[in-house]
Amino acid sequence: MLREKKKERHLIDIKNSASLCELLCEKKNKMTFKTTFDTKNWEEQKSSIYAKTAKDVEHAIASTKRTIEDFKALISPAAVPYLEQMAQMSSALTKKRFGKTIQLYAPMYLSNECNNICTYCGFSLDNKIKRRTLSESEILKEVEVIKSHGFNHILLVSGEANKTVHVDYFKKAIELIKSQFANISIEFQPLETEEYKVMHDAGVYSVLVYQETYHREVYKTYHPKGRKSNFDYRLESPDRIGDAGIHKIGLGILLGLEDWRVDSFFCALHLDYLQKKYWQTKFSVSFPRMRPAEGIIEPNVIVNDKDLVQLICAYRLFNEDLELSISTRESEKFRNNIIPLGVTSMSAGSKTNPGGYAVEPDSLEQFEISDERSAEQIAELISNSGYEPVWKDWDNSFALTKKNR
Ligand code: SF4
Repeated sequence: MLREKKKERHLIDIKNSASLCELLCEKKNKMTFKTTFDTKNWEEQKSSIYAKTAKDVEHAIASTKRTIEDFKALISPAAVPYLEQMAQMSSALTKKRFGKTIQLYAPMYLSNECNNICTYCGFSLDNKIKRRTLSESEILKEVEVIKSHGFNHILLVSGEANKTVHVDYFKKAIELIKSQFANISIEFQPLETEEYKVMHDAGVYSVLVYQETYHREVYKTYHPKGRKSNFDYRLESPDRIGDAGIHKIGLGILLGLEDWRVDSFFCALHLDYLQKKYWQTKFSVSFPRMRPAEGIIEPNVIVNDKDLVQLICAYRLFNEDLELSISTRESEKFRNNIIPLGVTSMSAGSKTNPGGYAVEPDSLEQFEISDERSAEQIAELISNSGYEPVWKDWDNSFALTKKNR
């Protein structure tokens, strides 16, 4: 009898601990990066980065598995004298993982309508510019020109105007062009998880969402009006993208807003968190530096070419699998020299205005591009640097395989 009772109590204990486990797992799944982010203080992290020493940098360089503390050392001022060594290591690691290849893509702006005020953007609501959202026939005209240059990867970009550019509009645009591209990426306003699932099912391969700055207190001064002023909603977007099963997530900060070292630390922390939680997902980081545009503020912080090289090399040493992207915001000289140092993709022949390729080439750009060379010239540059320009490295049928898994 006593034995029976003991057995019964044991079974109840097992049941209770199983449901506690389920509860904890459920709680963990619902947690987002915000939980990690809220434990970190901007000023403390800044002091920690600027306190790194040559010894910390040498330790980071010698490590085989680098941590976020190593990343901090690699982006610190103490790492500047080690830049040559970092560049050589970054180059070798990139070649080992990606071969000597650079993937090419073209951005296509669907709309410059926007309900947000972002003080650094030409499409900001308070800029009195002519607004345009491409119709289906206009999208096809733009695509015809983009395809004529050989592109198979396209990045669709839009402002945020929920009455005209919404999920239904995006879905139609993607379905309209998906037979013509092996890889479609999007850079739209943050969406809900269910909406990202719609994008995934429509044929989207990757979603880019940049936090712009991780400095919560000053974020509001750059984004005073509109849905983008909600810092936390944007911060939690990559979690929603991961939950929706999107194949690749792109992160980044806008270089020039705040201290690039501290912002990059938070971006790397975000990446580190996401990789652990969404381990089947691929990741990329882009490096947009502030560029001139209609009615925008001057950069608060100057990020020079050497700083940017240090940052790119630090990311590569931190993460061998990470895709690193450089756009036409950068100068010809910088793009010529950065090819062997760690980047894996580049835009080329870009237009940053809706209709810029064919429909209305003179409409207002989101920002001025710096490298105005054509796609063909960039492909030639890549080949002349001993690398292979890649127009297609993905096929949508792979995405179907993953979806059906
Ligand atoms: S950055 Fe994006 S959200 Fe902000 S004004 Fe420009 S288009 Fe709108």
